[in-house]
Amino acid sequence: MSPDSPRPSHEEEEAEPCIVPGCGAPSVRHLALTEARKAFDQLPVKGRRAPLCRDHYREWKKSTKEARKLDRLAW
Ligand SMILES: [Zn+2]
Repeated sequence: MSPDSPRPSHEEEEAEPCIVPGCGAPSVRHLALTEARKAFDQLPVKGRRAPLCRDHYREWKKSTKEARKLDRLAW
C-alpha cells in the first residue's frame, strides 16, 4: 500500500490497439462494435466494444455522417 506506486487511475482509459485489422494504432475512442461495423464491415465480431485510433475514428465519423445525410434524403 505505498501511496506513490504507479497505477493507472482509470483502467478503462488505457489505450487498447485499434480494432481495425492491420492498424493496431493506440485507440482514442471506444464505440459499440455494432456502431463501428457500420463503417468498417471487416471488423472481427468479438467482444462488444470497438477501440478505434484517431484516424479510424475520424473515418467512422465521416461515414456515419454520410449515412445520416442519405437518411435525410430518403425522407
Ligand atoms: Zn486504426
